[in-house]
Amino acid sequence: MKLGNQTVSLLPQPQQGQLPANSAALTGQNQPSAQSSVGKYQGCTTVSQFSPLLSYGNNITLVYGNNIISGAVIENDNKNVENDSKNIDLGKPEFQLTLNGKTITQPGTGKITILSPPQLEVVEVTADSGVARTGPSTDYSRLTPLPKGTRAAVTGGEGEWLRLDYGAWINRKETRTVPKAIPPHTIIRSVGYRKLSGVTEMVFPLQVPVPISVQQGEQTFTLTLHNTTAQTDIIRLDDDPAISRLDWQQLSPTPGGKQGGVQYTFNLKKAQQWGYKLRYDGTSLVLSLRHSPFLSSASGGERRGLFKRQKPLSGIKILLDPGHGGKESGAAGPTGYLEKDVNLVVSKLVRDELAKRGATVVMTREDDKEVSLSDRVSMIDKEEPAIAISIHYNSLPDAGDAENTKGIATFWYHPQVHSFAVFMQKYIVNKLGRPSYGVFWDNLALTRPASAPSVLLELGFMSNPNEFEWVTNPQEQKKLAKVIADGIVEWFRSVR
Ligand SMILES: [Zn+2]
Repeated sequence: MKLGNQTVSLLPQPQQGQLPANSAALTGQNQPSAQSSVGKYQGCTTVSQFSPLLSYGNNITLVYGNNIISGAVIENDNKNVENDSKNIDLGKPEFQLTLNGKTITQPGTGKITILSPPQLEVVEVTADSGVARTGPSTDYSRLTPLPKGTRAAVTGGEGEWLRLDYGAWINRKETRTVPKAIPPHTIIRSVGYRKLSGVTEMVFPLQVPVPISVQQGEQTFTLTLHNTTAQTDIIRLDDDPAISRLDWQQLSPTPGGKQGGVQYTFNLKKAQQWGYKLRYDGTSLVLSLRHSPFLSSASGGERRGLFKRQKPLSGIKILLDPGHGGKESGAAGPTGYLEKDVNLVVSKLVRDELAKRGATVVMTREDDKEVSLSDRVSMIDKEEPAIAISIHYNSLPDAGDAENTKGIATFWYHPQVHSFAVFMQKYIVNKLGRPSYGVFWDNLALTRPASAPSVLLELGFMSNPNEFEWVTNPQEQKKLAKVIADGIVEWFRSVR
């Protein structure tokens, strides 16, 4: 392979395992398989005459017949002052293949540019919630979303994907260029604190909105501000309904010598967390940590009293999301009965049972209409229920065994809903003697909301002929709704 004035030999590589799609976890068939007969040729080089920071598209691939040929360009640490100040266009790589005495050449599809450190582009997130990922495509996992206004330097790119200075990737469409800006870095001094109704707000005054990451632990909430250096000597935090203590630490510097960031660990009074929001208000980051619904609707004493009475869920708002609707019909049973219809019937039964127990119930739809995933998510963010439950029925993954694939499944994403997910799965399975398909951590639109604990239930398989009879039996549906409502009451009792 030729790139600029260098030639890189591409050599046949040892066999690698092939990973199946993520959905293979649903059937347990998720082990790597041996690579097919396709041969993989790869090679590496350093671009020694330049001082590249990083290259655009530093992995280049060409598929030729049954062969995959690719090369990588590795940055070199040797500084060369002359070339330091501008981006270097290396053009397109040229692949050359010799076989049976015959040689063919073909240019690669993308060109390669080496970025110059003093010329790094700075971008600002323009989407309400910028999707940060571990790599340059939607195949890569999501990281903590970046609030609108977040700024970072671009240290690399591939196609329309930008690698930001703290390591995550984002699609260029969700950003705009900030002209003439130098790579953003901020100091932080004090941290602000305000206790509002139902929520504690922590305000982090910054010079520029930097990227953030969140991690929820067993009884902790950890927020990392990247590209931030502490000049902190004082933080106010009174006795708070949710937070027992706030600790912070400066993270170790990056290899380039810059401060990595500041990490705030909120030690919480209770293990159960009730949702959070993060936004930039100008250059200040505002973190809202929701209080327990028992605190916001009534005093602890009153609440405990209420639990003994007839309406254990009074003052508690629950959002139910009947999956699909309208043109989105979801799975279909053997008779052609559609998942969207069962979802709605069962959701309404659950709604009625919850209302009997005193809950305020909000539904994302009450009839057969299409509601987009983003509208459903917005409703959770706006309503801020104590808990959000999306109701679905399952269908068989491709090439599965319809006769033997059955049972209840629960999907969760944020640790704040894990206890609820496991509790409900066990409760429904035990009370109704149904098979358990499993509890899954899963990145789904309706498990991703962070503003409230959000769970997705798959209450059985439409594709299983036996289970389908149970799924559509009106008496069984009523029993199921009652068990779900009882389970919710029991779970709230356990975390109050
Ligand atoms: Zn569904």
